[in-house]
Amino acid sequence: MVTELDKPKPKIVVTPPGPKARELLAKYADTLSRSVVGIYPLVVESGSGCFVRDVDGNEFIDFNSGLVVLNVGHSHPRVVKAIKDQAEKLIHYSWTDFSYQRIIEHGEQLKAITPGTFPKRVFFANSGAEANEAAMKMSRWHTRKSLFLAYTSAFHGRTFGTMSLTASKPVQRRHFFPLVPETTHVPYPYCYRCPFHLTYPECNLWCVDFIEEEVLKKFHPPEDTAAMFVEAIQGEGGYVVPPDDYFPRLKKILDKYDILLVADEVQSGIGRSGKWFGIEHWEGVIPDIITSAKALGAGLPLGAAIAREELMDWEPGSHANTMGGNPVACAAGLQVINIIKEERLLENATRQGAYLMKRLKEMQQKYQIIGEVRGKGLMIGVELVKDRKTKEPAAEEATEVTNKCFRRGLALITAGKSTMRFAPPLIVTHEIIDAALEVFEGAIKEVNAQLN
Ligand code: PLP
Repeated sequence: MVTELDKPKPKIVVTPPGPKARELLAKYADTLSRSVVGIYPLVVESGSGCFVRDVDGNEFIDFNSGLVVLNVGHSHPRVVKAIKDQAEKLIHYSWTDFSYQRIIEHGEQLKAITPGTFPKRVFFANSGAEANEAAMKMSRWHTRKSLFLAYTSAFHGRTFGTMSLTASKPVQRRHFFPLVPETTHVPYPYCYRCPFHLTYPECNLWCVDFIEEEVLKKFHPPEDTAAMFVEAIQGEGGYVVPPDDYFPRLKKILDKYDILLVADEVQSGIGRSGKWFGIEHWEGVIPDIITSAKALGAGLPLGAAIAREELMDWEPGSHANTMGGNPVACAAGLQVINIIKEERLLENATRQGAYLMKRLKEMQQKYQIIGEVRGKGLMIGVELVKDRKTKEPAAEEATEVTNKCFRRGLALITAGKSTMRFAPPLIVTHEIIDAALEVFEGAIKEVNAQLN
């Protein structure tokens, strides 16, 4: 087991990948689908809190939280106990045709933490893509409209429906066409690289008006538009945070034309940003549907679409699955929310996030390669650029920083073209942040020096 509490520092006993990792990676390469990416050769054996240990005995600080999943940390004792207890009682019974206690309890819990005081219902799924797929189908069924709006650089999943919303990288769509037709993508409010080459706030949020003036009024009739999918903080796109007045203005337009707002909180939800859901940072913006997964099940496959009650008027048999809301996953999910409440992890995410942000902004003063530091709570992006004036993305440099961090005991990955993503478990402490930043700064310093 990892010994995090005695010594909140990484421990590298053999430069990774060590011999055991290399042996397993060779088998991995021979056995598993070629479609997965493999960012760096980390072969994980165990995890505890904010740390993971690889098969060669190296201990890494995990600022990935798995893949932004382990918001309460690796193998939280209460999650482990809940899983064990539930597995001894009941591992499976399908919610589609029958019922059991855990799924009802978890559904009630989700209704209570999602924004909006109106009545709600919950559809349970197994993943983020499947939760979004449910939101797509529900929107079409309820509104009898067929079109969707989404953003460039968005990531909503890889099923045919959600792949049609995803617009993050060509590789995610290449050779898979045709998709769901007539899904229109509009530019995400990425002010550091405004797609319209405007500057906030002088732009007066043209990117919102663009949706009404150039899309809805010209070729994407609102009468046929069921829903718009948004990430409150764009995840895979680069941890991009829209300005404070963006979503309130967008919501007004959507309401004007009776278009549903679906907030995909698969990455930004369950406390990641210091609030239960990222969209809550934009006061008064209440989505019609919220989708969740990743952290929801503490690492077990679990997804959910939580919607206004009236949106789930679809008829019995119109949408269901075998495994959604599995009792063991729901038992883990119940604990995630209890732990976040009882250990005050929303507050910790806000506090530690502010500290991490401050430290990273100080680094930005020292290293030219850091173009922007942005985020909310513990969802922080550090965008690397080759040149602060041209803002040319420092993509190879970001990969080099990632690899250096990995070899020195910090697990960190990128998002977008060249943004380092900081998404530690919400239980992270100042000491662990300091230890992680020692590694990160060392890597940044070396890569920054090569730029000059
Ligand atoms: N939505 C967002 C915002 C995501 O970040 C992801 C995955 O990264 C998904 C949906 C898809 O989730 P899953 O991989 O569980 O299908």
